[in-house]
Amino acid sequence: RQSWMQRLKAGLSKTSSNLTTLFVGARIDDDLYDELEAALLMSDAGVEATRHLLDALRKKVKSERLTEAAQVKDALRTLLIELLAPLQKPFVLGRHQPLVMMIAGVNGAGKTTTIGKLAKHLQAHGQSVLLAAGDTFRAAAREQLAIWGERNNVAVIAQESGDPAAVAFDAVQSARARKTDVVMVDTAGRLPTQLHLMEELKKIRRVIGKGLEGAPHEVLLVIDGNTGQNALAQVKAFDDALQLTGLVVTKLDGTAKGGVLAAIAKTHPVPVYFIGVGEKIEDLQPFNAEEFVDALLT
Ligand code: GDP
Repeated sequence: RQSWMQRLKAGLSKTSSNLTTLFVGARIDDDLYDELEAALLMSDAGVEATRHLLDALRKKVKSERLTEAAQVKDALRTLLIELLAPLQKPFVLGRHQPLVMMIAGVNGAGKTTTIGKLAKHLQAHGQSVLLAAGDTFRAAAREQLAIWGERNNVAVIAQESGDPAAVAFDAVQSARARKTDVVMVDTAGRLPTQLHLMEELKKIRRVIGKGLEGAPHEVLLVIDGNTGQNALAQVKAFDDALQLTGLVVTKLDGTAKGGVLAAIAKTHPVPVYFIGVGEKIEDLQPFNAEEFVDALLT
């Protein structure tokens, strides 16, 4: 099995085959900038981040009198790292007991998988974990979480056809009573049509706060790295409704849209706590701007 870094590289090479090859033996002229612009747009970096990077690159090439394509590529690397660095923020444990995390994301984004990976990650760091099956609209989601919890020795609070906010409230109370370190509240990614997802999520957030002042301490949005520019729309919508504290970007092992992180950094920066680079437990890694850019450009 490849290391996670190799999988990230292999995945991002779909994004960046043009980004890496276009510099090879290239002359520094308008053609090069045009090709670079196309490659960045194709990777879903978006218009604003692409324009920002190209302008900054032209300036740097001029001021530093760069003459080799390899130097230009290196300058691009530096600019990309600068752009993405604000998204890098370590996920800190032990500030609250319980630390209450609410996890949101549209269906299929990788929410359940991420919760499983995170639970294992937290346990590995000596934290006790409680899960709340807050997606009460999908029986399968609840069952999936319950089975997973049993298999992995993680307590799961679930109610059949309950109110998701009530499940979340219960879970927080239960965690306080049991002195659990971390509560993760799963939420629905889609509702029966007449209900409004954002209103439902806001209610869950409010009710968690009634159960424990200051909670939820973390509100994470899980987004599928393959959805490109649509991921940006999700970040905006969920952030407006829920005041996100962080993102988890999944499926970066197989995407051609890795540039979307540049779009997020430029237009709606929310820290990326973790990236998903596969389906296994160990395939959840802290986001590191330098590692990410190196995987993108080599
Ligand atoms: P949910 O509907 O948001 O709960 O999504 P799931 O957790 O069920 O994930 C949807 C699919 O994406 C599943 O087949 C997962 O195995 C897969 N998946 C989740 N995260 C990753 C990842 O980082 N890489 C890859 N390759 N697949 C992932």
